[in-house]
Amino acid sequence: MQVRLLLGAFLIAVRKRHIQYMQEALKEAQKAFDEDEVPVGAVIVYKDRIISRGHNQVERLKDPTAHAEMIAITGATNYLNTKWLNAASLYVTIEPCSMCAGALVLARIKNLYFAAKDPKTGACGSITNIANHKKLNHRIKVKSGILKEECSFLLREFFSRIRSSRRAGSRVLSDSLAGKKKRFNKSTK
Ligand code: ZN
Repeated sequence: MQVRLLLGAFLIAVRKRHIQYMQEALKEAQKAFDEDEVPVGAVIVYKDRIISRGHNQVERLKDPTAHAEMIAITGATNYLNTKWLNAASLYVTIEPCSMCAGALVLARIKNLYFAAKDPKTGACGSITNIANHKKLNHRIKVKSGILKEECSFLLREFFSRIRSSRRAGSRVLSDSLAGKKKRFNKSTK
């Protein structure tokens, strides 16, 4: 009974830590959101401490590789002065794409925790599984679902904002085309 209680308390404490780290990744995603970037954020944890952070900066840097995970990996390897992260864990708000999953395999990261699945580009179980590919020389322990509602909400908000600004943009465009048409009709009368 005592052992079961202790185990239960331990599991609750572990879950709390996962949530805390994912909340930090979510803060990074919020930074991306505020900068009009696709809101994805990541943190890397080593010996129970955050050693690097990253948020998507593709638009700002005009760099298709500037994903949150890539930035966090570079930060962590710089911090540890090593090329491998085999005792570290990455927390990221959405399932990594094929580029990031490949980089995580190359970095030999130990654990990957992602919040929401990405059915369009996710490469850790959705469209393919680079994190656990039998032909690759490193397998990552993957767990998903921590704070998935919060992380997906931010992404949904972002894309709905994009869609409504596109609609507003196309309204402005069609109004200006209608104006031009009117002027053209007048001038040809
Ligand atoms: Zn990526």
